[in-house]
Order: sequence, then structure tokens, then C-alpha cells
Amino acid sequence: MFKRRFFWQLYPSYLIITIIALLALGWYITGSLKEFYYKQIDDELSSKAMMFQSQAVELLKNKEFEEVDRLSKKMFKESSTRITVILPSGRVAADSEAQVAEMQNHSDRPEFREAITKGSGKSIRLSNTIGVNMMYLATVISDSNGPVAVIRASIPVTAIDKQLSDIYGKIAAGVIIAAAFAAIVSLITSRIISRPVVQMKEAAEKFSIGRFDVRVPMFNSLELNELSQELNNMAEQLQERIRTITKQHNETKAILSSMVEGVIAVDSAGHIVSINKAAGDFAGVEPEKVSGLNIEEVIRNPDILDFLKETLGSEKPTESDISFLGGGKRHFRLHGARLADSAGVASGAVIVLDDVTRIARLENIRRDFVANVSHELKTPITSIKGFVETLLDGALKNPEETERFLKIIAKHADRLNAIVDDLLSLSRLEEDGDVRRINFEKTALADILGDAAELAKLKADGKNIALKVECDKEIKLECNPPLLEQAVMNLIDNAIKYSEPKSEVVITGREDEKEIAISVKDNGCGIPKEHLERIFERFYVVDKSRSRKLGGTGLGLAIVKHISQIHKGLVAVESTLDKGSTFTIHLPKDISISRPI
Ligand code: ADP
Repeated sequence: MFKRRFFWQLYPSYLIITIIALLALGWYITGSLKEFYYKQIDDELSSKAMMFQSQAVELLKNKEFEEVDRLSKKMFKESSTRITVILPSGRVAADSEAQVAEMQNHSDRPEFREAITKGSGKSIRLSNTIGVNMMYLATVISDSNGPVAVIRASIPVTAIDKQLSDIYGKIAAGVIIAAAFAAIVSLITSRIISRPVVQMKEAAEKFSIGRFDVRVPMFNSLELNELSQELNNMAEQLQERIRTITKQHNETKAILSSMVEGVIAVDSAGHIVSINKAAGDFAGVEPEKVSGLNIEEVIRNPDILDFLKETLGSEKPTESDISFLGGGKRHFRLHGARLADSAGVASGAVIVLDDVTRIARLENIRRDFVANVSHELKTPITSIKGFVETLLDGALKNPEETERFLKIIAKHADRLNAIVDDLLSLSRLEEDGDVRRINFEKTALADILGDAAELAKLKADGKNIALKVECDKEIKLECNPPLLEQAVMNLIDNAIKYSEPKSEVVITGREDEKEIAISVKDNGCGIPKEHLERIFERFYVVDKSRSRKLGGTGLGLAIVKHISQIHKGLVAVESTLDKGSTFTIHLPKDISISRPI
């Protein structure tokens, strides 16, 4: 449909109404004026006719028509009114302007006929006799025998018509000026009325593109003022709501993108509605670029796609575990729920991908640990049980056998004790480390190394191994002295265990700008390269029988590693087979900065 501007709806209407009103007024005025003038002439004619009648009535009754004719001509001279006397037959008996003898019969004249039938008659028409537009007024004179004559007074109306057409001209000019004036006033009025509407339209357009800082101006009209006030209120509320929605949206986005879990929301057709950073990383895509795509174009894993299908078709929340190979074996726990719109109709689904690879690995470690502990404990227990049973079965009677068996039982009991001691140490370290109950104090490193060497001296002497401590007495560090001493002790103990007699173990403490390093160097059997990565694991030993023979538990290095970590440091090893090993504990110097206690 053709749409016009509001202004163009108002302006022509105003103009047309005004022009019609002006024309109607002009028509009414001209009509009234004409009527007024004609009425005046009418009155004048009738008074002239009456005057003539009073003078001519007796003459007419006596049929002195020549005298009447003279009287009519005299009247014309005095008052410029033409008088015609017409006999009932239509013959003209007297006339102010023409020769009676030359005049036609006037019985067909409308004013005459009207006067004969009604007593008086009137007409405005072209005079046959003198050829100008005349107004005629005729009255009949009667006696007892009926009409005697009709006296007709007439006057040309040309002058009045001229006068009237002058007035018409002036009125027309007035109408045109008034119309032009009305056109200007209508234009201004239309503009005044349409401008607020245009301004409101412009403001509404700005609101629609989110420019809520714009305000509709106030107007003089009460209703328009209220309307613009309402529009402004609406804009403010919209702005507030959009601000709230944007804030909530940003918060949700921030929460989603900071989540470690992957979150994917799809509509019921499987198109991605939302995908967070973690899920994007998982699928190897940028979240912003895949919105709207079908999930099958983004996620290739059939297990996840099946799970999504199941979630879309299920009213209850769904859950599943999946694992696949992708940079090592990865495990995911999936949670899904169907999404519903405000009317409760299913509109899609959301799934959460929780990477439980680490938890699964920890679970494996725990399972292995329990299996290892059980195995390590079972071996000495089985031996103890076996020897006890042998003794009970009769070996007790042989004192030599008894002593040998009891020594073996005592050895296994020592081993059990050593394992339990190490396990308790580890568990205490874990517990204390977790609740941060470990006290740190500034201690001279040389003291710690000296004490550890002192404690290991007996063992070293047993193998004729020289212990050499090299450490600047000035080196001080923040540490827990008993724990650090235990760690150094474990390293010295291993160095003695895995070294040949009469060799040397060097314990060094040194410091640089960043760290303090404690090294224990031996010239022992060394460790094959392939085992280096794993020797710090619990119960990991390179050579089971040798370790056991030497009274090892496989937990010593795990304890060293744990103590180093508690001090925010780490333990490293360098080893050459058959040449020796160097274990180094690296501790950060400013432990107070790196230690979150
Ligand atoms: P263990 O009680 O058996 O010594 P550890 O955890 O202390 O257990 O050590 C793990 C393994 O690392 C040992 O079984 C041994 O094979 C190897 N190892 C540790 N220290 C040394 C060393 N100084 N020289 C050679 N091998 C070592």
C-alpha cells in the first residue's frame, strides 16, 4: 500500500478544507449581495409603479392613453425609470422610451402574464424593445369589470450587474489571498503537528538500533508530552534490561569460558547454540566460529554424538564415561540434560565433558600402590609364616636350624618394619604437606649435611666407605631440618648401598643466586638409562633381588622426592652405569615467596 508522510496527510486536508470553506463563503456572500441589490431595485420599482399608478389610474379608466404615454415619458425623465402601460389585450398603451405604435403586443411577456393571473409579476430578462438586461415589475389595475391595464416599471440591471461583478472580483481576490494565506498557515500548522511525530519516529529508530542515550524532546501538547515521556521511560527500561541481560550474558560467558569442563549446548536439530573454550579446545575449533553449525561437523567422536542423541531423547539427566586415544589415553565423564523453552517444550540439550584422565590416573596409581604394598608386605609375611611353620613342624628341636630360621624371621620382620616405617613417613609427609603443618626455620646447610653423614657413618664404616661433606658454613636456608636430614640420609644410604666397599661418597652443599643444591655423589653401580625416569616412583626398584638383599624398600627415593616438593624443590639424578650416580636436591632460595603457606 502506498504510504504518505504524516505531513502530506495533514497538509492537503487542511488546504482543501480551507479552500472549500472560502469558496462556500464567497458563494454565500455574492449570493446575498445580489439578492440584496435586486431587492432594493425591486422596492424602488414598486414605489415608482405605485406613484405612476396613483397619477395615471383615472386617465386609464377614461382611456386617455396619449396622456398616460406623456406621463410615462415625463416619469422617465424625472426618475430614469421606464414605465410601460399594457392593456389586458397585450397592446402597449404607453411607454417611457419607445413609440407605442411601433411596439409589439406584450401579451407574451412573462411579467405581464403573471400580473394578469396573480395581480403582480416580476422578471429579469433582455428587453426586446431596447435590447438591454432589465428588471420588470408589473402590477395590474382593475375596476369592477376586471383588469383595466398592467403598469410595468422597469430599470436596466446592467449597472447593478457591473457593480456586482466588481464586488465578485474583489471577493475572488480576497478568496485567493485568503487561500494563499491559508496555504501558508496550513503548512506551518501541519509542520508544527507533524514535527513531534517525526522527532518521535527518529528517536524510536535510534532506540531500535540500540542508541538508548537519545531522548525524545518535550512538546507543548499535553498528550504528545505524555507520549514522549512514555517513550523515554520505555527507552530507559529497555536500556536497563539490556544492560542486565548483557551483564548476565557476559557473566555466563565468563563462567563458561573459565570452566575446565567442556560445555556444549545444541538445539533440537543438533545445531550448536553455545560451546565454551574447553569444549572448543577439545574439538580443536574456535568457539565463535562454530556457533550454528551441526554438531556432527564439529565433534567427530561417535561416543559423544551417541550420548548427545541419547540426551536429546531422554527426559532425565544422562551420564556416561568414555575414553579414547588422543595424546595418550584420555578419559571423560559426560553429563547431559535436555533443555526446555519457557513453555516446557524440549528445545535442545546441553552436555558437559569432564576430563577425568588425571583422576583415572591417580586411581590407577592408588590401585597399583595398594597392590604393591600388599605384595611387598606379603613376601616377608609369607616367609615368616613359612619359617615359623617349619620350626613348629620339628625344626625347633635342632638348635642350629632354630637359630638360623629365627635370624631369617628377624630379617623379614626388620624388612616389614622398614616398609611400614617408610609408608608411615610417606603418609605423614602427605598429610602434613596437605594441611601445611610443616614448620620451616633458617638453618645452616652444613649442619644438616654433617648430621646426616654422622648418622650414616656406621653403615659407611661397615663397608669401609669414606663420607666426605663439602659445604660452606655460611649457607643458610629456610627448611624443616629433620625432613631435609631424612632426605639427605636416604640419598647417602642408597649411595652406600649401591657402592662397592672402600669407595667414596661425596655430599656437597652449594648455593647460587637462585637456589641451594644438595648433591650426593657415589662411584657405585649406576642406574640404567631406561630406569632413570621411574626410580622416584613408590616401590620402583631397578633390581628387585639386589634391592631386597640390601634391605631396600623401594620407597626411599619417593620419600626424597616428597620432601623436596614440600620445600618447593625437586630431586634429579645423573647416572652412568658402572661409574656412579649423583642425586641432587634443588631447593629455591627464597622459599617464603614460592611456598604458599
Ligand atoms: P631402595 O630401598 O630399593 O633403595 P629407593 O627408592 O631408595 O629404593 O631406590 C630405588 C631404586 O633406585 C633402587 O632400587 C636402586 O635400583 C636405584 N638406586 C637408588 N639410588 C641408587 C644409587 N645411588 N646407585 C644406584 N642405584 C640406585
